[in-house]
Amino acid sequence: MTASYLFNPEELAVFTRYVTPDTLFAFDLDGTLAPIVDDYNAVTIAEPVRDTLKRLAQLAKVVVITGRSRNDALKILEFEPDLIIGNHGSEWPAQDGKRDWQQIALCVKWQEQLKNRLGDTEGVEIEFKGESVSIHYRKSDDRESALLRINDAIKIIEPSPRRIGGKFVVNLLPKDATTKGDALVAAMDKFGLVRSVFLGDDVTDEEVFRLVGVDVLGIHIGKDYYTAAKYYLNDQSELLGLLNTMVGTIESLRAVAPPHNTNKHQS
Ligand SMILES: [Mg+2]
Repeated sequence: MTASYLFNPEELAVFTRYVTPDTLFAFDLDGTLAPIVDDYNAVTIAEPVRDTLKRLAQLAKVVVITGRSRNDALKILEFEPDLIIGNHGSEWPAQDGKRDWQQIALCVKWQEQLKNRLGDTEGVEIEFKGESVSIHYRKSDDRESALLRINDAIKIIEPSPRRIGGKFVVNLLPKDATTKGDALVAAMDKFGLVRSVFLGDDVTDEEVFRLVGVDVLGIHIGKDYYTAAKYYLNDQSELLGLLNTMVGTIESLRAVAPPHNTNKHQS
């Protein structure tokens, strides 16, 4: 199935009928809420996007599911939505009791093994992120050889990790780590919601788009023939328009039926 452009009038009508105040709105961060920039540490969210996302969070449950650590994501968001899940779906707030200390211990071990192998490699930085480890090579003068050395180092670490590639970064997680798909299902469960919208642009976001038996409407940022998402936006700059549509749709539903009304809206 090929994804349809969401801002086609017919598709947009389907989308606005789907959305209710009981919909969980979940977002990837880099490339979705924030545009991709060369410097991974310089990512920011545009002010109008942040303001609209805050408005949405006042009307419905908003969740951010990101490859970054929760702390890092919070710094970029500059506000706390209902839930931030970090480390590609693995890192939950401590109070949810879902942190996997065995996984964290394993990542500590990997970090040591990688430091031994890569410690002296020019421009390579190993970042321990709790439930995952990232190896950055953006600052390397010779990124090609840096990546070769990184790949050699990954081959010998035990147990063999799951590898998620990014822009001048390689991310490592245990093979059985929670995926973004698992994370979305758990988030819906946490808030007792049965319907969700998810936006993302990464390979790991396909784990959400491919969910079966879960009521999730997937939107891929960027036209991509391989995505399992139902819809796509042309690029990240179209996100603000969609956020405004979400807010407007829920506000108009609320104007018809106030929030204290427990009747579910029919789509
Ligand atoms: Mg992304």
